Amino acid sequence: MAKQVKVLDVTARDGLQNEPNPVSTAQKIALIEKLVRARVSNIQATSFVHPRWVPQMADAEAVAAALGRFPDVHFSALIPNLKGYERAVAAGFRNLELTMSASETFSHKNLNRSREQGFEILEQVSRAAERDGVVIRVGFAMSFHCPFEGAISTATLVEVVRSAREHGPWHIALADTDGMAFPNQVATAVKAIQEELGIPASELALHVHDTYGRGLANVLTGLEAGIREFDATTAGLGGCPYCPGASGNLATEDLVALLDGMGYETGIDMEKLLDAAEFASSFSSRPYQAHLLRAARGAACDVTERLARHLPSSQK
Ligand SMILES: [Zn+2]
Repeated sequence: MAKQVKVLDVTARDGLQNEPNPVSTAQKIALIEKLVRARVSNIQATSFVHPRWVPQMADAEAVAAALGRFPDVHFSALIPNLKGYERAVAAGFRNLELTMSASETFSHKNLNRSREQGFEILEQVSRAAERDGVVIRVGFAMSFHCPFEGAISTATLVEVVRSAREHGPWHIALADTDGMAFPNQVATAVKAIQEELGIPASELALHVHDTYGRGLANVLTGLEAGIREFDATTAGLGGCPYCPGASGNLATEDLVALLDGMGYETGIDMEKLLDAAEFASSFSSRPYQAHLLRAARGAACDVTERLARHLPSSQK
């Protein structure tokens, strides 16, 4: 089994989209620059959703315009529909994630459409992507559990993944959006997708939240099942919109430490990644809740000190 693992850092998108405090475009670019210095080569930079729904992502075009200075990095962006696709492609992106939902109720509540309508959008986006030479990843929110419907059965997940693949050869990201997945459920789902649909684990990604502390356990299960692509956010930014105050995505530094320690190759420089984590944590409205930064640089996690460092000097 390949020892190379792709780490997709989604801090600038998933990590920031629910943050109550506005983060400026310049700060987002500074964060991306720190990730690039840490040799993170896959970064989800923004989301082309309507600013009314996600005000924090209203500067998607401005963020995109600044990415040209990092030529060796694979940037991607999230899109909810064809309009988002057109904006993202016009802004220069060639790797896009179309967000869909494994849960019918979450699809209505979060995307304002049925799952069926989602597949119609996938069809439109797929044809446009083929025409434009753009690569799509289909991300299924609530792949394992939904705050409205409870557990999502493996059969349901297999069905939506099957339908998605009818529209294009796209890689599929299984997102544990509310962090409620258990490792045995992840193992069963990945096995079923491979066996029933013939999709190799190398075409799957796991998008991990750590709401209940099961993030690394689910990653380990994914690794054992052959998955080699994982999403995380630096400093564990982000969250679950239905669990206010809960910890966010799995932290990139915790993910990379696990992978490094187990002999997998990510190409990421841990010391510099911790610089990025320290910087990222200054955007969070919550204390640092992941592990590595606390273990390596305890003081960086002190909320009082952190706030003091990032206040303008006139307010210190
Ligand atoms: Zn997420």
